[in-house]
Amino acid sequence: MGEKPTSLVFPRLFSLCVNKNASIEESGRWAGGTWVWEFQWRRELFEWEKEMANALTVFISECVPNAGKKDEWRWKRSKDGRFSTKSAFETFMESRNVPPSDPESNTLLAKVWDAPTPHKVQVTAWRCLRNRLATCDNLVKRKVGLEEGEEWCNGCIWRTETADHLFLLCPKAQQVWDALERWMVYSSASPSTITQHFTLFINRGRGKRTENLLKALWMCTIWLLWKRRNESRFEGKVWEVQNLIAEIKGRVWSWLVIFNGLDTDVSFQVWCSREFSLSSYFNL
Ligand SMILES: [Zn+2]
Repeated sequence: MGEKPTSLVFPRLFSLCVNKNASIEESGRWAGGTWVWEFQWRRELFEWEKEMANALTVFISECVPNAGKKDEWRWKRSKDGRFSTKSAFETFMESRNVPPSDPESNTLLAKVWDAPTPHKVQVTAWRCLRNRLATCDNLVKRKVGLEEGEEWCNGCIWRTETADHLFLLCPKAQQVWDALERWMVYSSASPSTITQHFTLFINRGRGKRTENLLKALWMCTIWLLWKRRNESRFEGKVWEVQNLIAEIKGRVWSWLVIFNGLDTDVSFQVWCSREFSLSSYFNL
């Protein structure tokens, strides 16, 4: 499935899980040919833990059990699935000097979880970076039936809605990033994939404080673009770039105050004023 065991990707949920050694068949059921995961928790989940549980369901959705086969433990290191001391020893020796398969993407994804933002924003950003949001191209891949023309982007109509298009390449999204760059008095090449964009965006300053600010800005923009997209698609609402920018500034300012990332007494009025330059303030 991934580079990392699922228990390490969702450590909190793993600690809340009742039976940590449950087999697949004890962790869900078949409902009309579809496998439904049903985990048992030690207590009622908090709202943000429920969002995390949703993220877990999406995370493991690519793993579909085989209805005709019985569960069994397999030792992955040998071809026949049987455990042997020799292969265990080899595994142990290898684990001492072999790095994880994709340390770069793990490190990048981990940056989402300590950003100074509410948890729901972290979940959206994380799903966006893993291309796990329900964009139209992903729905088509999952065989969700869309009507003729429904797979197109709502912002510009004639492009298929992929995450890269929706968040970066769509003219409306580009206007949003351009406006943010002007506020930061910064311009850069615009990468056309989400992970490259995130990497470049958060690495333009120096120090933890600057990185936190840039993470909050990037994640807030992604979260609000996704919200606007849903309001536009499902409620027919039209949105304006300028209003979105004002909302990004307002929310990021309050998160930096709440999550203690601002470390300053800059007032909201100053923060939002035309003269305030983010780049000189944060040494971008
Ligand atoms: Zn578009």
